[in-house]
Amino acid sequence: MQIIYKIDVIFTIIYSIILLVTGGILFIFSEKPFIFLITLLIELVYLGIVFKTPLRRYRASKKKFPVEWREFVMENSNFYRVINDNAKLQFELDMRLFLTDFSIRSVRQGEVDFALKLFIASCFATILNGRPSWEPPIKDGVIVYPGETFNRHYELGKGNRAGQATINSPLLVTEESLIKSAQHSGDGFNVIYHEVAHYFDMEDGIAEGLPLARMNKESIEKWKSVIGREWENAFNGNSILGPYAGTNEAEHFAVGVEFFFEKPVQLYRYHKELYEIISEFFNLDTRVLLSI
Ligand SMILES: [Zn+2]
Repeated sequence: MQIIYKIDVIFTIIYSIILLVTGGILFIFSEKPFIFLITLLIELVYLGIVFKTPLRRYRASKKKFPVEWREFVMENSNFYRVINDNAKLQFELDMRLFLTDFSIRSVRQGEVDFALKLFIASCFATILNGRPSWEPPIKDGVIVYPGETFNRHYELGKGNRAGQATINSPLLVTEESLIKSAQHSGDGFNVIYHEVAHYFDMEDGIAEGLPLARMNKESIEKWKSVIGREWENAFNGNSILGPYAGTNEAEHFAVGVEFFFEKPVQLYRYHKELYEIISEFFNLDTRVLLSI
């Protein structure tokens, strides 16, 4: 994540110039001063809207990374502990920007425990660490459900859903699945990695295990063959990813992402090509980072 993106600055400058030139021409031909004033007013409103988020992010980035947050990630993030100083700075920036820009709220009244908020933000900071120019694929924050599961009617304590990713909707996760993900780092289960992988997958509108919106277009065919083959292996019980990864290609990709961040050495050893395509996607070599 970044405070402001170059491409946005370029477009803002272009639109501002077009607006001012148009207003200037209208003013010259009409000779009415109020047209010039209205143009300036529109320009100010436009700049205020465009720079609202970057200004908020800038203010957040200037705050010191709190000591308690550093203690938390040192204790709870295997990834943070092993990355170099520059990567740590990006990680810390991503956590601050995520918590500034994305709401994490409870489905019931009351606040979500702050440690869980830090955990969620640290998972996003992990996923995005190799791609500093990427934004999280979610649009409407995170909603935490109390308990362990909910069903398709969102009834608490029923069904078997620990999380849910629906495009253009908030990421839903249960409190217990977050606690389990945080407490057992390295066991292959992490509800945030799993659901965020679904969001990446669905950005092109289809959940088929191919995050087409952000992937290298030259590698589409390779992805299709690797995901298709590995999914079949899981379906037939021949994968360390377990039976759930055999549900379909989309679930296979989501579980693969969990393993990529939680058990990269094992993923590389038994499913090397799957590891490699996920590694290229996130621009990270977790096997090397986390085997130290
Ligand atoms: Zn899933």
